[in-house]
Amino acid sequence: MTRSPTPLPRPSGLRFALRVGASRIDGQGAFALGPIPARRKVGELTGERISVRTARRRARDTARVAIVELDERVALDASRGGNALRYVNHSCTPNCYLRIAAGHVEFYALRPIARGEELTARYGATHHDGRLRCRCGSAGCDGWL
Ligand SMILES: [Zn+2]
Repeated sequence: MTRSPTPLPRPSGLRFALRVGASRIDGQGAFALGPIPARRKVGELTGERISVRTARRRARDTARVAIVELDERVALDASRGGNALRYVNHSCTPNCYLRIAAGHVEFYALRPIARGEELTARYGATHHDGRLRCRCGSAGCDGWL
């Protein structure tokens, strides 16, 4: 694989510089450009704020969804105006966790993350309803999303 990674400027919402590049897990991934200490906030997912109803309609029409429901009414569609955190792939043994608080989707490091490491998080319930085979490749893989 000699695909060159796409360096991104540091967009708003990020506290650590990330780059987007080809992932071994799925499609593209978000990679740390420098070390990230454990428990530090990596950043906040950006995107278009839409209604949950609109979000579910968009999710039906899209294979690769980047939508997070913030509460019963509001969702964030990171495929529009999303920063590099939208490329964080699911892993069953992740190095980050995401927290939805007060209408914000925040990513934190679970453990020290090395320069060049791909960022991963355990997704909650997805629109796949456990029907998509997980390809995280970790020893503790649950098998399905
Ligand atoms: Zn897995």
